[in-house]
Amino acid sequence: MKNDTSIKNWLKEFHLDHPLVIAGPCSAETEEQVLKIAHELKNTDTSVMRAGIWKPRTRPGNFEGVGAIGLEWLKKAKEETGLKIATEVANKTHVDLALKADVDVLWVGARSTVSPFIVQEIADALKGTDKVVLIKNPVNPDLALWLGAVERFYNADIRNLGVIHRGFSTYEKIKYRNNPEWQIAVELQKNFPDLPLIVDPSHIAGNRDLVFDICQTALDLNYDGIMVETHHTPNKAWSDAAQQITPEMLDQMTKDLRIRNKSG
Ligand code: PEP
Ligand code: MN
Repeated sequence: MKNDTSIKNWLKEFHLDHPLVIAGPCSAETEEQVLKIAHELKNTDTSVMRAGIWKPRTRPGNFEGVGAIGLEWLKKAKEETGLKIATEVANKTHVDLALKADVDVLWVGARSTVSPFIVQEIADALKGTDKVVLIKNPVNPDLALWLGAVERFYNADIRNLGVIHRGFSTYEKIKYRNNPEWQIAVELQKNFPDLPLIVDPSHIAGNRDLVFDICQTALDLNYDGIMVETHHTPNKAWSDAAQQITPEMLDQMTKDLRIRNKSG
């Protein structure tokens, strides 16, 4: 892979800080919720607001997202706060709608990265885009699937690429919701040294008490950014309530984290 996925260019071009802070709710729930969180995040180190509007739930019967209407709320959040906006896309229809709404960052979820057909469909729909595209690791600890997804996007001439490490499923009872398996992300980085690597402590943790330590470990490993699920009333969130933190907690956390300077 050539050098043009350099974190420096990527952050500069998109006027983002290092380390990159992406924050926002697991799911967009209502217009009021999205705007409330956006305004609270505006006063933190956050550059990009995340919110899922199409939610891939492992089992049916849970909240599956508000759908395309959420794009309008995110657009409004961007207009009112200047934050860039990010959402998950899982098929061509999502991509087309997100591009039309001028979403700045599109991410591929862990349940999509496992499927080469769906990855290819998303990559084809995004072919040649200059939007930022972030690829989460697959749910299972399979480095080749993650590498394969990066290659499919790269082959589709998508250059503003990055990856998100959100941990891996395990049947064992461990303290994390998803086992970090740091060595897999480190190995991915060896294959693509210029690819921005972002940690998602929320889905690794499953529990807000672990979020800080996971971020610190990632920054000590020289990760380029963090994506943290953030909600103004976390316990009332419609999805992933136990792992979300408030914008105020996020603000304190970014002040307390020791950050190594990679950009110099
Ligand atoms: C999410 O970001 O809310 C999400 C569904 O994450 P993952 O794909 O990592 O499970
Ligand atoms: Mn979530």
